[in-house]
Amino acid sequence: MSVEEHRGVREGLGRRLLAECLDLLLPQQCLVCGGGGASLHASCLAGFAAAEGPRCTRCWRPGPGTWCDRCAVGGPGAPAFDGLRTAFCFKGDARRAILEAKFRGVTAHLEPLGHAAAAVVPAPWRFQAVVGVPLAGARQRRRGFNQAGILARHVAEALGVEPRPRLVLRVRSTPAQASLTAARRHRNLEGAFAVRGVPPEGVLVVDDVTTTGATLSTVAAVLKAAGASRVYALAVARED
Ligand SMILES: [Zn+2]
Ligand SMILES: [Zn+2]
Repeated sequence: MSVEEHRGVREGLGRRLLAECLDLLLPQQCLVCGGGGASLHASCLAGFAAAEGPRCTRCWRPGPGTWCDRCAVGGPGAPAFDGLRTAFCFKGDARRAILEAKFRGVTAHLEPLGHAAAAVVPAPWRFQAVVGVPLAGARQRRRGFNQAGILARHVAEALGVEPRPRLVLRVRSTPAQASLTAARRHRNLEGAFAVRGVPPEGVLVVDDVTTTGATLSTVAAVLKAAGASRVYALAVARED
């Protein structure tokens, strides 16, 4: 580890500890209404736009029919996960809540968001482990935390399933997906993830936000290559 990297780790750790201390010390203030008593009131969370309407029951893209064209045809164009669900649409207060965690280091409201995401997991899905989409090491060290990892912990806790934070590793840093066209998103992620150890038969992969589902699909593919037979995906919000 270089001196710069070491400094980055210390700063990231310092930032995380500071954020956690502030969460404990400061009176909690709702991200939406500014009122006290909670980081995000249940009544304010209830106002977030739910990702409902007719959607593909596999990849959760809006559209008529049980499966969208991509999922119905199958093959390499179809996602590697067996199902995707998201609680909210990535707009308004839901968008703001996710961006607060990502860019401002506010994390207390990830608990209610994780629980809201857990609530949309279909009952028939069977999995024995929950894992967040990992960030590249350098990015996580700078930020001090991975919001997908924190969400995965809250989802696991809500569902009574074991969190496996180190089951999937980010082995290669990649340009941010948001900066790329849909066609380039899959290629950008080639070789980005690796599985550590043997995954259980069923795994749930969690992210904060998804657009094309490319990241979740790539993680699902490496888990299946490592032996998982069912991989499901869950995100707090979806950008349609
Ligand atoms: Zn509120
Ligand atoms: Zn689909």
